[in-house]
This record gives sequence, C-alpha cells and structure tokens, in this order.
Amino acid sequence: QSQELSQVRIDYHAALQALVEDGTKMVCTGRMHTDRICRFESLCYSTEAEEFVFFHSSSSVMLPNLGSRRFQPALLDLSSVEDHNTQYFNFVELPAAALKFMPKPVFVPDVALIMNRFNPDNLMHVFHDDLLPIFYTMQQFPDLDLETRLFFMEGWGEGLHFELYRLLSSKQPLLREQLKTLGRLLCFTKSYVGLSKITTWYQYGFVQPQGPKANILVSGSEIRQFKTFMMERLNVSLEGIPGEEYIIVFSRTINRLILNEAELILALAQEFQMKTITVSIEDHTFSEIVRLISNASMLVSMHGAQLVLSLFLPRGATVVELFPFAINPEHYTPYKTLSTLPGMDLQYISWQNTEKENTVTYPDRPWDQGGIAHLDKTEQERIIKSSEVPRHLCCRNPEWLFRIYQDTKINIASLIQVIRQTVKTKPGPKKQKWTSGLYPGKVRDAKCQASVQGTSEAKLSVSWQIPWNLKYLKVREVRYEVWIQEQGENTYMPYILSQQNHTFSDNIKPFTNYLVWIRCIFNKNLLGPFADVLVCST
Ligand code: UDP
Repeated sequence: QSQELSQVRIDYHAALQALVEDGTKMVCTGRMHTDRICRFESLCYSTEAEEFVFFHSSSSVMLPNLGSRRFQPALLDLSSVEDHNTQYFNFVELPAAALKFMPKPVFVPDVALIMNRFNPDNLMHVFHDDLLPIFYTMQQFPDLDLETRLFFMEGWGEGLHFELYRLLSSKQPLLREQLKTLGRLLCFTKSYVGLSKITTWYQYGFVQPQGPKANILVSGSEIRQFKTFMMERLNVSLEGIPGEEYIIVFSRTINRLILNEAELILALAQEFQMKTITVSIEDHTFSEIVRLISNASMLVSMHGAQLVLSLFLPRGATVVELFPFAINPEHYTPYKTLSTLPGMDLQYISWQNTEKENTVTYPDRPWDQGGIAHLDKTEQERIIKSSEVPRHLCCRNPEWLFRIYQDTKINIASLIQVIRQTVKTKPGPKKQKWTSGLYPGKVRDAKCQASVQGTSEAKLSVSWQIPWNLKYLKVREVRYEVWIQEQGENTYMPYILSQQNHTFSDNIKPFTNYLVWIRCIFNKNLLGPFADVLVCST
C-alpha cells in the first residue's frame, strides 16, 4: 500500500506562501471540549516535537478563542471516549514568521480526519469508539468523503483490525509513527480534528461503574445504515449461506470458553429445529462472519467484544449473551444496550452461570488474564468465596478479571428454559411489518367553550383537530392526552381520550381560569408535543 500522500501535485511555492501569509484558521463546533470538533486550514504537526502547531498571522482565525481555558483541560477529545485524560488534543502556537527558521513544511493535500482510536485490539472498542464515530463524523461534514485521509494519532500500531478501518475511506489511514517518514513539519491543507460522540451508547466505567450512556442519541436505523455501508465495502455477498434458518454460536477460543460447546450446539439445534453453526474470530475471516451473522436467526455467545457484531444481525433476530459465574448480567450491558436501542428490533436474552461446580477459574494466570496469585491470601480467599463481583470501576479490578476470565460449562436445561421464556416459537426474523415509530405533530385549532350552571358548577368543552402529519400516516391507535390545570396551581388533572373533543365537568369551578394542555399519542408510547396552551375561563 502506498504511503504517498497524493498523486495530485500541489504548487509548493504557492502553498508555502499562503501558509506564511494566512497562518492557521480554525473554526469549531461544540461548546465544551467533550463535544467539540474543529475544522482547520493549515494546521501543522511537528513530528520531532510530536505537537500540533497553530501559526498566527494577521489572517489567522481561532474560534473559539479560549485563551488559557484551552488547557482546562483541553481543546477537545481526540477519541470518542468522553473526557479521557490520555485522549486530549491541543496545539502549540507560533508566529507564522517562525516558519523561516523551521524545517520546510510538507503539505498534506488530502482532506484529513485527525483522531485517536481508543483500543484498536478490542472489537467492541473498534466498532463503538472508532468505526461508528468516524462514519458519522464523516457524514456530518461534506468535505469528509471516501477520499478522506484518516490520521490515527493515539500512537498504536495498526492493531488487529486495521482492515476494518481501511473500509471507511479509499485512502490508506496513516499512523502517528508513519508521519515521521513524511517529513519534520507536516501541514494539513484542510483537516477536521476530533470525533462525533453522537452514536456511542456505552461508558466504560472510568469515573462511575460502567453502564449505558445517560443520554443515548442513536437508534437502530443509523446502526443499520452503518451496517449496510460496511457490508458493501466488505463486498459481502449472500451466496453460499444456508438457505434455511440457522443459529450461530459465536465461540471464543483463547479464554472465557464454553466447555461443553458441542453439547450446546446439539441442544440448540434440537430445541429449535434449526441448523446450528459455530464461528470464531480465529477461524473465520471478517467477511465470512458478517455474511453469516447478517442472516442468522439467533446469535449465542459468551459476554465479550465479539458480541458487538450482533449489529450485523437481521431485524427480529435474537441475541443470547452468556455470563460466567458471579458476573451479574445487569452490571455489564454494552451488548444489551446495543440490542435494545430503539428500532434495533433485536430480542435480547442474558443467561448467567449460577453453579459454582460449572465454573473453571484460573487463579495462577497473569493478573491481566484474571490471575489473583499476586494478592494477599485473605483477599484471594474473599474473592473465591464471593458469589458476585461488586460494582467497580474500570479496568484493573482483580475480582472482576478473575471472574470474567472463567470458563463455563453451560447448564443446557437452564439456558434453554431462559431462551424459551422469550422465544416462544421459532427464533428469527418474522414476516413482520416494523412500526415506523414516527411521532405525532401538535394538535391544531384547539378551542374551548365554558358554561356555568349556578354558583358552584361549570363545564369546559374542549375541541381540537388532528395533528397535520396524521393524514399521511397509518397509525394503529391515536389517543389524546389532555391536562386541565387551574391557573396558578401546580397540579393538573390528566385525561386520555380517543375523541377530538370532550366536555369536562369534574372539579370544574365557575369563574376560574384553566390552562388546557393537549398532545397526541400514537400507539401508546409515541408522545407528541403539547400544542400551545389554551387559556379557558369559566
Ligand atoms: N478475543 C477473541 N477470542 C478469544 C478471546 C478474545 O477473539 O478467545 C478477542 C475479543 O473479541 C476482543 C479481544 O480479543 O476483540 C480482546 O478480548 P478481551 O477478553 O480482552 O476483551 P472482551 O472480549 O472482554 O471485551
């Protein structure tokens, strides 16, 4: 693979003159370092200092201009992992005149996306932290197309899954180490720095125990568009996959093993009357795995990074995640969160080994593979006696590592029972029409009319029109929620109605002002916005 930056020759003299005269220009989006992405013209990088350089001239632009707040703690996160102190980006500043005394710049003509990969050897991290964020950062900025040059600045080598990163652009991604071979001072003609976090769904537990992100902003639809892109780039063809429905057991071969895999496969095949196959990262190419998963009815696997590939399952399929002894499935949910994203349309089932005699521990392995021999005797005993790993922070908790690297003999009967609680008939894609999940607009032309009977009784008649978008939609059930609030009070009376008008008489007093809030609800759970509040006087 060629490491040359471009076949396009640029006018070196003109480029240098422009850099000296105009300096660096930066305009960013985002209010904080954790949501910022910056677009640069003429951002430079000194491969000797291993620092980015911003050249000031009278034409340079720096927005936001944060002063020293740029260091508190950084201008932006270079990876999609939020606020991780090993992933910060900043630059040093120089006057453009200093270029006279510096090595001759080498210009990078390609539009660059400059970022850090977080953990390129772990498949979950590769997809969640890098591939999806890169894909959607590129969608955010029209300059970033298939011709984009990716620059991975975290300092790792290619890593185990470099082929996947290469799918995102037609140009070979470059690693930090390789920049040295290009020159002492590199200047990126046009570049974007940082990654969108909009698609990430999980936080790994650096400051609080791991769990789903607080504010998930991605749905199954965007995950599937990424899946489609990847499958096209991988040239995955559906030829040669079993014509019938089938189950996949995704096995690990190095650690966290299923000890009775053959028995498990036979049992699944028998129970669901389906062909059952095994795949593993070690025995299959990535294309083969994706091809097989993308048509499977069910994916059964030990907890682990390989389960991120359930994003390639077809809608309606089932994910069964197996957890070793003492590992509470509710505490480790990256794959559950993925499978249950709105609109993902996957069924998620977890199973945990609760029988100590079915687990195999490895106390004498190195600490990072779950060994505990280096700990105090009392601590070792406590861990061995415990039947649940307490919640903990990432990443070196020895009790967690000890338990997560156990091998497991699956209790087949208990597993089948758990799966059967959810999968009543045959697993897999049903001929199902997916409900579109579109939300109602505001109700229109809301009106009220009051009538007073005597000194203590009154009625409020309220009417409205359907939301504008409803006439273009097929909706199973349309309901209206109406809140009647006496002006100045904190409480309100809620009603769910199916008509477009209603006369309220309970607790309606004469000579009182009421605020009436109305919204439409599709299919029980798609809540629309409230229309402008209606003020009604009895
Ligand atoms: N891995 C694998 N086979 C194995 C064990 C691990 O392919 O038998 C892969 C795994 O999918 C992940 C990487 O090696 O991409 C690191 O695995 P580790 O157990 O450290 O992480 P986890 O799977 O728990 O996230």
